[in-house]
Amino acid sequence: MTVIGGAAKASLMLEQQRNPVSPQHYSGRFAPSPTGPLHFGSLLTAVASYCDARSQQGRWLVRIEDTDIPRIYPGSQSHILACIKAFGFEPDGEIIFQKDRLDIYEQVLEQLKAKDLVYACQCTRKMLGSNHIYQDTCRNLHLPFAHQAIRLKVDEVEICFEDRLQGRHCSQLKTELGDFVLKRRDGIINYQLAVVVDDYLQGITHVVRGADLLDNTERQIYLGALLGYPELVYMHLPLAMNDQGQKLSKQNLAQALDLQQAPTLLQQAIHALQQPAVDLDEPKHMLAQAIAQWDVSLIPRQIELQGHYL
Ligand code: GLU
Repeated sequence: MTVIGGAAKASLMLEQQRNPVSPQHYSGRFAPSPTGPLHFGSLLTAVASYCDARSQQGRWLVRIEDTDIPRIYPGSQSHILACIKAFGFEPDGEIIFQKDRLDIYEQVLEQLKAKDLVYACQCTRKMLGSNHIYQDTCRNLHLPFAHQAIRLKVDEVEICFEDRLQGRHCSQLKTELGDFVLKRRDGIINYQLAVVVDDYLQGITHVVRGADLLDNTERQIYLGALLGYPELVYMHLPLAMNDQGQKLSKQNLAQALDLQQAPTLLQQAIHALQQPAVDLDEPKHMLAQAIAQWDVSLIPRQIELQGHYL
Protein backbone atom coordinates (compact mmCIF):
# COMPACT_ATOMS: atom_id res chain seq x y z
CA MET A 1 0.00 0.00 0.00
CA THR A 2 1.25 3.44 -0.84
CA VAL A 3 0.51 6.53 1.19
CA ILE A 4 1.06 9.78 -0.65
CA GLY A 5 0.08 13.31 0.25
CA GLY A 6 -3.50 14.05 -0.89
CA ALA A 7 -2.96 17.23 -2.88
CA ALA A 8 0.25 15.90 -4.34
CA LYS A 9 -1.18 12.87 -6.05
CA ALA A 10 -4.17 14.34 -7.82
CA SER A 11 -2.55 17.53 -9.01
CA LEU A 12 0.71 16.07 -10.13
CA MET A 13 -0.36 13.35 -12.50
CA LEU A 14 1.60 13.75 -15.67
CA GLU A 15 0.53 12.75 -19.12
CA GLN A 16 1.79 9.36 -20.09
CA GLN A 17 4.07 9.86 -23.00
CA ARG A 18 4.29 6.45 -24.60
CA ASN A 19 1.86 3.64 -24.43
CA PRO A 20 3.26 1.04 -22.12
CA VAL A 21 3.04 -2.66 -22.79
CA SER A 22 -0.28 -3.54 -21.21
CA PRO A 23 0.55 -5.45 -18.07
CA GLN A 24 -0.59 -8.99 -17.64
CA HIS A 25 -1.57 -10.19 -14.22
CA TYR A 26 2.14 -10.84 -13.59
CA SER A 27 5.15 -9.34 -15.37
CA GLY A 28 8.47 -9.66 -13.62
CA ARG A 29 12.00 -8.75 -14.58
CA PHE A 30 15.68 -9.25 -13.90
CA ALA A 31 17.57 -5.98 -14.27
CA PRO A 32 21.32 -6.36 -13.72
CA SER A 33 23.80 -3.51 -14.11
CA PRO A 34 26.90 -4.47 -16.09
CA THR A 35 29.24 -2.98 -13.49
CA GLY A 36 30.87 -6.37 -12.95
CA PRO A 37 30.23 -10.03 -13.70
CA LEU A 38 27.18 -11.70 -12.18
CA HIS A 39 27.85 -13.43 -8.84
CA PHE A 40 25.96 -15.80 -6.57
CA GLY A 41 23.83 -12.94 -5.17
CA SER A 42 22.74 -12.03 -8.71
CA LEU A 43 21.86 -15.69 -9.30
CA LEU A 44 19.54 -15.65 -6.27
CA THR A 45 17.70 -12.67 -7.75
CA ALA A 46 17.50 -14.24 -11.20
CA VAL A 47 16.23 -17.58 -9.85
CA ALA A 48 13.69 -16.03 -7.47
CA SER A 49 12.32 -13.53 -9.98
CA TYR A 50 12.09 -16.24 -12.68
CA CYS A 51 10.48 -18.93 -10.53
CA ASP A 52 8.05 -16.47 -8.96
CA ALA A 53 6.92 -15.20 -12.37
CA ARG A 54 6.71 -18.59 -14.05
CA SER A 55 4.95 -20.26 -11.13
CA GLN A 56 2.18 -17.70 -11.67
CA GLN A 57 2.21 -18.10 -15.46
CA GLY A 58 3.75 -14.65 -15.66
CA ARG A 59 6.17 -12.98 -18.07
CA TRP A 60 9.86 -12.58 -17.18
CA LEU A 61 11.86 -9.86 -18.89
CA VAL A 62 15.55 -9.02 -18.82
CA ARG A 63 16.77 -5.43 -18.85
CA ILE A 64 20.39 -4.34 -18.80
CA GLU A 65 20.75 -1.23 -16.64
CA ASP A 66 23.71 0.41 -18.29
CA THR A 67 23.08 4.16 -18.01
CA ASP A 68 26.12 4.65 -15.78
CA ILE A 69 28.61 4.35 -18.61
CA PRO A 70 31.77 5.16 -16.57
CA ARG A 71 30.98 2.24 -14.23
CA ILE A 72 30.47 -0.35 -16.97
CA TYR A 73 32.96 -3.17 -16.46
CA PRO A 74 34.44 -4.56 -19.66
CA GLY A 75 33.04 -7.96 -20.55
CA SER A 76 30.33 -7.94 -17.90
CA GLN A 77 27.53 -7.47 -20.39
CA SER A 78 28.49 -10.54 -22.37
CA HIS A 79 28.92 -12.46 -19.10
CA ILE A 80 25.34 -11.54 -18.11
CA LEU A 81 23.98 -12.71 -21.47
CA ALA A 82 26.04 -15.92 -21.35
CA CYS A 83 24.80 -16.65 -17.81
CA ILE A 84 21.17 -16.23 -18.80
CA LYS A 85 21.65 -18.87 -21.46
CA ALA A 86 23.90 -21.24 -19.49
CA PHE A 87 21.63 -21.23 -16.43
CA GLY A 88 18.60 -22.10 -18.54
CA PHE A 89 16.59 -18.87 -18.21
CA GLU A 90 14.24 -18.10 -21.08
CA PRO A 91 13.33 -14.41 -21.14
CA ASP A 92 10.17 -13.20 -22.82
CA GLY A 93 10.64 -10.62 -25.53
CA GLU A 94 13.82 -8.79 -26.41
CA ILE A 95 16.42 -7.92 -23.83
CA ILE A 96 16.46 -4.15 -23.55
CA PHE A 97 19.45 -1.90 -22.83
CA GLN A 98 18.86 1.37 -21.01
CA LYS A 99 21.64 3.17 -22.82
CA ASP A 100 19.51 2.92 -25.99
CA ARG A 101 16.59 4.61 -24.26
CA LEU A 102 18.10 7.88 -23.06
CA ASP A 103 15.70 9.95 -25.16
CA ILE A 104 12.76 8.39 -23.31
CA TYR A 105 14.16 9.35 -19.89
CA GLU A 106 14.88 12.87 -21.19
CA GLN A 107 11.25 13.18 -22.28
CA VAL A 108 10.05 12.20 -18.82
CA LEU A 109 12.41 14.79 -17.34
CA GLU A 110 10.81 17.38 -19.62
CA GLN A 111 7.38 16.40 -18.27
CA LEU A 112 8.65 16.86 -14.73
CA LYS A 113 10.18 20.23 -15.62
CA ALA A 114 6.92 21.40 -17.16
CA LYS A 115 5.17 20.60 -13.88
CA ASP A 116 7.88 22.37 -11.84
CA LEU A 117 8.68 19.15 -10.00
CA VAL A 118 12.43 19.27 -10.57
CA TYR A 119 15.19 21.85 -10.30
CA ALA A 120 18.79 22.28 -11.33
CA CYS A 121 21.35 21.74 -8.59
CA GLN A 122 24.93 22.93 -8.71
CA CYS A 123 26.04 21.40 -5.41
CA THR A 124 29.06 19.19 -5.76
CA ARG A 125 29.48 16.05 -3.71
CA LYS A 126 32.05 17.94 -1.62
CA MET A 127 29.58 20.73 -0.85
CA LEU A 128 27.04 18.20 0.39
CA GLY A 129 29.39 17.10 3.16
CA SER A 130 28.63 14.07 5.27
CA ASN A 131 24.91 14.76 5.51
CA HIS A 132 23.35 12.52 2.92
CA ILE A 133 19.98 14.25 3.09
CA TYR A 134 19.94 17.16 0.71
CA GLN A 135 19.40 20.49 2.43
CA ASP A 136 17.51 22.18 -0.44
CA THR A 137 20.36 24.63 -1.09
CA CYS A 138 19.44 25.03 -4.77
CA ARG A 139 15.71 24.34 -4.56
CA ASN A 140 14.63 27.96 -4.95
CA LEU A 141 17.54 29.32 -6.96
CA HIS A 142 15.89 28.64 -10.35
CA LEU A 143 19.21 27.83 -11.99
CA PRO A 144 19.24 26.95 -15.69
CA PHE A 145 19.19 23.18 -16.23
CA ALA A 146 22.13 22.91 -18.62
CA HIS A 147 25.21 21.18 -17.15
CA GLN A 148 23.69 20.84 -13.69
CA ALA A 149 22.32 17.91 -11.76
CA ILE A 150 18.51 17.62 -11.75
CA ARG A 151 16.77 16.90 -8.47
CA LEU A 152 13.18 15.91 -7.77
CA LYS A 153 11.29 18.07 -5.28
CA VAL A 154 9.85 15.76 -2.68
CA ASP A 155 6.96 16.57 -0.37
CA GLU A 156 6.72 15.98 3.34
CA VAL A 157 4.91 12.68 3.00
CA GLU A 158 5.32 9.25 4.40
CA ILE A 159 5.52 6.51 1.81
CA CYS A 160 4.84 2.95 2.94
CA PHE A 161 4.62 -0.33 1.13
CA GLU A 162 4.01 -3.93 2.07
CA ASP A 163 6.95 -6.06 0.99
CA ARG A 164 6.07 -9.71 0.39
CA LEU A 165 9.04 -10.88 2.47
CA GLN A 166 10.21 -7.96 4.56
CA GLY A 167 6.77 -6.72 5.65
CA ARG A 168 5.76 -3.08 5.95
CA HIS A 169 8.47 -0.58 5.08
CA CYS A 170 8.04 3.19 5.42
CA SER A 171 10.09 6.35 4.88
CA GLN A 172 9.43 9.99 5.62
CA LEU A 173 10.43 11.19 2.21
CA LYS A 174 11.55 14.73 2.92
CA THR A 175 13.25 14.27 6.27
CA GLU A 176 14.75 10.82 5.78
CA LEU A 177 15.63 10.88 2.09
CA GLY A 178 15.40 14.45 0.78
CA ASP A 179 15.22 15.77 -2.79
CA PHE A 180 17.00 13.18 -4.91
CA VAL A 181 18.96 13.28 -8.14
CA LEU A 182 17.34 12.12 -11.39
CA LYS A 183 20.15 13.21 -13.68
CA ARG A 184 23.75 13.81 -12.67
CA ARG A 185 25.87 16.81 -13.52
CA ASP A 186 27.84 14.66 -15.96
CA GLY A 187 24.60 13.99 -17.87
CA ILE A 188 24.14 10.41 -16.65
CA ILE A 189 20.52 9.44 -16.04
CA ASN A 190 20.17 8.15 -12.50
CA TYR A 191 19.05 4.62 -11.78
CA GLN A 192 15.96 5.87 -9.86
CA LEU A 193 14.51 7.54 -12.94
CA ALA A 194 15.38 4.86 -15.48
CA VAL A 195 14.05 2.01 -13.33
CA VAL A 196 10.70 3.69 -12.69
CA VAL A 197 10.17 4.62 -16.33
CA ASP A 198 11.16 1.22 -17.69
CA ASP A 199 9.16 -0.78 -15.16
CA TYR A 200 6.17 1.22 -16.35
CA LEU A 201 6.87 1.05 -20.08
CA GLN A 202 7.58 -2.68 -19.91
CA GLY A 203 4.32 -3.27 -18.06
CA ILE A 204 6.09 -4.70 -15.01
CA THR A 205 3.74 -5.60 -12.15
CA HIS A 206 6.07 -7.44 -9.74
CA VAL A 207 9.60 -6.50 -8.65
CA VAL A 208 11.79 -9.20 -7.08
CA ARG A 209 15.30 -7.97 -6.18
CA GLY A 210 17.91 -7.83 -3.42
CA ALA A 211 17.17 -6.25 -0.04
CA ASP A 212 20.03 -3.77 -0.65
CA LEU A 213 17.51 -1.89 -2.80
CA LEU A 214 14.79 -1.69 -0.12
CA ASP A 215 15.67 1.89 0.78
CA ASN A 216 15.30 3.01 -2.82
CA THR A 217 11.78 1.70 -3.08
CA GLU A 218 9.95 4.61 -1.42
CA ARG A 219 11.70 7.04 -3.78
CA GLN A 220 10.63 4.94 -6.75
CA ILE A 221 7.05 4.62 -5.49
CA TYR A 222 6.86 8.40 -5.05
CA LEU A 223 8.26 9.16 -8.49
CA GLY A 224 5.97 6.57 -10.09
CA ALA A 225 2.95 8.10 -8.37
CA LEU A 226 3.90 11.61 -9.60
CA LEU A 227 4.03 10.22 -13.11
CA GLY A 228 0.67 8.51 -12.74
CA TYR A 229 2.13 5.00 -13.11
CA PRO A 230 0.41 2.03 -11.47
CA GLU A 231 1.74 0.64 -8.19
CA LEU A 232 3.99 -2.41 -8.21
CA VAL A 233 4.23 -5.39 -5.90
CA TYR A 234 7.66 -5.75 -4.24
CA MET A 235 9.65 -8.63 -2.85
CA HIS A 236 13.14 -7.91 -1.50
CA LEU A 237 15.27 -11.01 -1.13
CA PRO A 238 17.80 -11.66 1.62
CA LEU A 239 21.37 -10.93 0.56
CA ALA A 240 24.05 -13.59 0.32
CA MET A 241 26.92 -12.62 2.65
CA ASN A 242 30.58 -13.57 2.39
CA ASP A 243 32.61 -14.93 5.30
CA GLN A 244 33.56 -11.40 6.37
CA GLY A 245 29.89 -10.55 6.83
CA GLN A 246 29.76 -8.35 3.71
CA LYS A 247 27.10 -8.71 1.06
CA LEU A 248 28.39 -10.27 -2.14
CA SER A 249 29.04 -7.44 -4.54
CA LYS A 250 31.25 -6.41 -7.36
CA GLN A 251 33.04 -4.02 -4.95
CA ASN A 252 33.81 -6.90 -2.59
CA LEU A 253 35.16 -8.89 -5.51
CA ALA A 254 32.51 -11.59 -5.37
CA GLN A 255 33.40 -14.52 -7.60
CA ALA A 256 31.98 -14.37 -11.11
CA LEU A 257 29.42 -17.12 -11.81
CA ASP A 258 31.20 -20.01 -13.49
CA LEU A 259 29.18 -21.13 -16.51
CA GLN A 260 30.73 -24.60 -16.35
CA GLN A 261 29.28 -25.04 -12.86
CA ALA A 262 25.75 -23.92 -13.74
CA PRO A 263 23.85 -27.00 -12.42
CA THR A 264 25.68 -27.04 -9.07
CA LEU A 265 25.33 -23.28 -8.61
CA LEU A 266 21.63 -23.46 -9.46
CA GLN A 267 21.17 -26.19 -6.89
CA GLN A 268 22.95 -24.03 -4.29
CA ALA A 269 20.83 -20.98 -5.13
CA ILE A 270 17.60 -22.96 -4.82
CA HIS A 271 18.85 -24.33 -1.50
CA ALA A 272 19.80 -20.83 -0.26
CA LEU A 273 16.25 -19.69 -1.02
CA GLN A 274 15.15 -22.65 1.14
CA GLN A 275 13.09 -24.18 -1.62
CA PRO A 276 12.60 -27.96 -1.94
CA ALA A 277 15.69 -29.61 -3.44
CA VAL A 278 15.96 -30.11 -7.21
CA ASP A 279 17.82 -32.92 -8.99
CA LEU A 280 21.07 -32.15 -10.79
CA ASP A 281 20.16 -32.01 -14.45
CA GLU A 282 20.26 -29.65 -17.38
CA PRO A 283 19.63 -26.13 -15.98
CA LYS A 284 16.37 -25.73 -17.91
CA HIS A 285 14.96 -28.87 -16.32
CA MET A 286 16.21 -27.88 -12.87
CA LEU A 287 14.41 -24.55 -13.19
CA ALA A 288 11.24 -26.30 -14.33
CA GLN A 289 11.36 -28.44 -11.18
CA ALA A 290 12.05 -25.38 -9.01
CA ILE A 291 9.08 -23.57 -10.58
CA ALA A 292 6.77 -26.52 -9.92
CA GLN A 293 7.90 -26.58 -6.27
CA TRP A 294 8.16 -22.79 -5.78
CA ASP A 295 6.92 -21.65 -2.38
CA VAL A 296 7.54 -18.02 -1.37
CA SER A 297 6.58 -18.74 2.23
CA LEU A 298 9.79 -20.79 2.60
CA ILE A 299 12.18 -17.96 1.63
CA PRO A 300 13.91 -16.62 4.76
CA ARG A 301 12.28 -13.33 5.82
CA GLN A 302 15.48 -11.54 6.64
CA ILE A 303 17.87 -9.05 5.13
CA GLU A 304 21.00 -11.21 5.25
CA LEU A 305 21.69 -14.87 4.48
CA GLN A 306 24.67 -15.96 6.55
CA GLY A 307 26.25 -18.75 4.60
CA HIS A 308 29.82 -17.90 3.69
CA TYR A 309 29.02 -17.42 0.04
CA LEU A 310 31.84 -16.55 -2.31
N1 GLU B 1 20.30 -2.70 -11.72
C1 GLU B 1 20.18 -2.94 -10.31
C2 GLU B 1 21.34 -3.80 -9.84
O1 GLU B 1 22.00 -4.45 -10.63
C3 GLU B 1 18.88 -3.63 -9.95
C4 GLU B 1 17.71 -2.76 -10.18
C5 GLU B 1 16.37 -3.30 -9.75
O2 GLU B 1 16.18 -4.53 -9.70
O3 GLU B 1 15.50 -2.49 -9.51
O4 GLU B 1 21.58 -3.82 -8.64
